[in-house]
Amino acid sequence: MTSLVDQLTGQLKILFGNTLTSTVKSPLSGNFRKRDPLLEEQARSLLHPLAPKLSSLVIVGWNIRMRTTAGVAIASRWEVWLNPALREISEAEVEKTLLHELAHLLAQHRHGRRRLAPHGPEWRQACIDLGIPDEKRTHQLPFVGRRMKRRYRLRCPGCGESHSRVRRPRRRVACLICCRTHNDGRYDDRFRFQVIELAAP
Ligand SMILES: [Zn+2]
Ligand SMILES: [Zn+2]
Repeated sequence: MTSLVDQLTGQLKILFGNTLTSTVKSPLSGNFRKRDPLLEEQARSLLHPLAPKLSSLVIVGWNIRMRTTAGVAIASRWEVWLNPALREISEAEVEKTLLHELAHLLAQHRHGRRRLAPHGPEWRQACIDLGIPDEKRTHQLPFVGRRMKRRYRLRCPGCGESHSRVRRPRRRVACLICCRTHNDGRYDDRFRFQVIELAAP
């Protein structure tokens, strides 16, 4: 049995082969958001078994003004806008971001006007239902570039937050969030980052 994600991947492959490159208008046109009928159709078929009403309302497209944000979900209008740079990274990134944002819409649709925490339990449940149970809570565009490949991960033993770095840090560095929370913002060895070397490219 093929999962929804597999279906999506398959169909995105088709999308990538043809039409997507022509869908984004020039910034000079003033129209910085452009709906993408094929991606929208994909989103609708993903949502349909879970929320038929929402599936008929959802709008999906690209926002060429986005810089570091990978995608946004506007629940009041059932819109999802993605950063066109995602297409340059991989189809998997487009798919992941689309599902992440659709999960925001699905969560809000299920809970009406109730105010939800952005990545709270309702969103988490929606991710599970959309087939991305391990989704990370971020909207940032993943780092791209060959020369600046990130080779180290710094992990906070306190909160588990991790950051990627190109170089191994020379000095001791600790998690700012934990140091602020537990030590008045001063360096605290308990929250010194563990440096994990990633596999060489
Ligand atoms: Zn999110
Ligand atoms: Zn921390």
